[in-house]
Amino acid sequence: MNYDHILIRYGEMALKGKNIKQFIIKLQENIHQKIKHFEGVKVIRTQGRMFVLLNGNEPEPIIEKLKNVFGIHSLSLAIRVENSEEQIKEGALYALKKEEKAKTFKVTVKRITKDFPIPSQQMNQILGGHLLTNTDGITVDVHEPDVEVRVEIRKEATYITSGSIRCRGGLPVGTSGKSLLLLSGGIDSPVAGFLAMKRGVQLEAIHFHSPPFTSERAKQKVLDLTQTLTKYGKSIKVHIVPFTKLQQEIFREMPNDYAMTIMRRMMFRISERICEQEEILSLTSGENLGQVASQTMQSMHTINEVTNYPIIRPLIAMDKQEVIEISQEIGTYETSIQPYEDCCTIFVPKSPKTKPKREKVNYYESHHDFTPTMEETIKGIETIKITEKTVMDQSFEDLL
Ligand code: ATP
Ligand code: MG
Repeated sequence: MNYDHILIRYGEMALKGKNIKQFIIKLQENIHQKIKHFEGVKVIRTQGRMFVLLNGNEPEPIIEKLKNVFGIHSLSLAIRVENSEEQIKEGALYALKKEEKAKTFKVTVKRITKDFPIPSQQMNQILGGHLLTNTDGITVDVHEPDVEVRVEIRKEATYITSGSIRCRGGLPVGTSGKSLLLLSGGIDSPVAGFLAMKRGVQLEAIHFHSPPFTSERAKQKVLDLTQTLTKYGKSIKVHIVPFTKLQQEIFREMPNDYAMTIMRRMMFRISERICEQEEILSLTSGENLGQVASQTMQSMHTINEVTNYPIIRPLIAMDKQEVIEISQEIGTYETSIQPYEDCCTIFVPKSPKTKPKREKVNYYESHHDFTPTMEETIKGIETIKITEKTVMDQSFEDLL
């Protein structure tokens, strides 16, 4: 006997009424996408649960992949046995013995099919007795057991688990539409992207770079960050905007203290154009209230004027330390702190307005026509599709 399945629980989605079907299909598809390179694995859907059939594969690398699939609440190694009392007894004993350190246990039986003749409560007692007789030094504790042996008797078979691994929860990527992430090389925006993905959003990314003031390495950094984000979802398209000329024009033509505000407005205008082209309905940014000059309430009010697209700002209520902790946990931090400057750090005015006004900025902008340079900039956008590296690719890299 051996653990031959992984049981997947998807809590929150059970609440989603009539969307549930679409959610489950998406989750199954996303799981399949992440583990299909393991030979022979299958993702099986059944009422209220999903199972991965391991088909001889080691479970650990598959579990590592599943831990990053949004929509999964928790998972457990499971053994599948026939719906017979003898088989279930044997399976439950196996599951308990797998937890070597356990001193106490309880059994929880759920009978999902009434085809199985023994009621749950009675089955609980039968299994409890069987486990006590066939082990040494383990006792029952129904309140705080070291191990809960869970037995689900389903129509097709019985699944038995002992441990449980918490996952990220959230919603399957792709169930909440698409958003365009304004991705700098900093700490915040990748975390914002991650959190949007957690709510089921499929991302594309846009990055403004200003060669030769920003290096090729700064662009690579953004692609590396995107690569890390693909771990939590699917491929991500990155739109690289050649921003130098427009940025220089802004700093030449506009009052210095308003240049940053106007530059941000341009970023939103250009982003909106990508959205139209790619059928994306919102923007996502790493803005946070009160951190820097461009992130005051007045500043957001003035910058936001140029777009009526919803802007998702997942970090708005977070402290910097919280953001840093998430970035460390999701693996973007080390890349983000590499010292390659982005376009915003280079073109920083001496004293940017912390309270820019809409009237003023509109007045300044009306004195110069940015349209030709803006159109040229949009024409120069380069789009790169970043796909997740599979386990195979990574081990291949390790060999080099
Ligand atoms: P981050 O850590 O994400 O760089 P930040 O704290 O440096 O954020 P700002 O420089 O004010 O804050 O930028 C606010 C947001 O504007 C960023 O989180 C990002 O979403 C967007 N942004 C800034 N610079 C760029 C860029 N070069 N390309 C794309 N988006 C950008
Ligand atoms: Mg930044």
